[in-house]
Amino acid sequence: MALTGLVTKRVFSQAKDSPSSKTGTRLILLGTGGGPRPNKMRTQSSWVVLVNDVPYVVDCGEGVSRQLVFANVPLRNLRYIFITHHHSDHNLDYGNLLYNAWVSGFKGRVDSYGPPPLEKMTKLYLEMNAYDIDIRIPDEGRPPLTPMIFAHEFSKDGVVMQNESVKVTAALVNHLPVQPSFAYRFDTPDRSIVFSGDTTPWDNLIKLAQGADILVHEVIHKPSLARLMARIPNADRLVEHIVASHTTHIDVGKVAKSAGVKTLVLTHFVPSDDPSLTDEMWIEGAKTHFNGKVIVGKDLMEI
Ligand SMILES: [Zn+2]
Ligand SMILES: [Zn+2]
Repeated sequence: MALTGLVTKRVFSQAKDSPSSKTGTRLILLGTGGGPRPNKMRTQSSWVVLVNDVPYVVDCGEGVSRQLVFANVPLRNLRYIFITHHHSDHNLDYGNLLYNAWVSGFKGRVDSYGPPPLEKMTKLYLEMNAYDIDIRIPDEGRPPLTPMIFAHEFSKDGVVMQNESVKVTAALVNHLPVQPSFAYRFDTPDRSIVFSGDTTPWDNLIKLAQGADILVHEVIHKPSLARLMARIPNADRLVEHIVASHTTHIDVGKVAKSAGVKTLVLTHFVPSDDPSLTDEMWIEGAKTHFNGKVIVGKDLMEI
């Protein structure tokens, strides 16, 4: 517990103290845990790319709003959200992020992107919270929230968003039974960053990530899964799902090598709260096949 506190504090100061020129492309890992069960060591999946200070949030696991606050990204600046797939550890706080930005002074427009049923989820979230929202509009003088949100669904590979600073390309990955599930590539004038989402090793992802500066990839530590299962009650089929739908710490290096990326950033750790798993163990696995730089992601780390 004490150790976790120290780690969080150190990583937090990295994000806080790092040079923030406000121009160019920055990557901050908001949450690096994998799986839906809240734990003490890592927040659920979420990352943010900042391009000239505009945030592009990728995935909204539980805690995304508060992690953005810790990373000194004002919630009122929210502009773009991308969801890789509809497992709860990637979308649970999607609606809450929209809401939290709104009560933090957001007045503009948010475009969100992801597979179906993103539009339905957006609509139902606003309906579920209509009582509170309808009170705050007159009581606090806030603009109506619903017309500020534009959800965009897609189910195929391709460019999903492009503006003067960023091109975002989506590629289908293999994460059954969640279909479609996507990886995203962000190309900016000074950087290319790819997020694997949740997937097994997959050729379409390797194609998307060709030559990228940074590949942010999910990872599991297969030898530790039995220990994880012993700690989680009522999860008889969970190991089966984890092994069939994710990428091991050895295979992730093969993916990075095949894609020819410069830096591999590990994230979405499963198990995410096993203190006996050291950074060295994750790195050693990834470096079995990959000669580039490997970074063991931590919450609030800036890369
Ligand atoms: Zn996940
Ligand atoms: Zn998933």
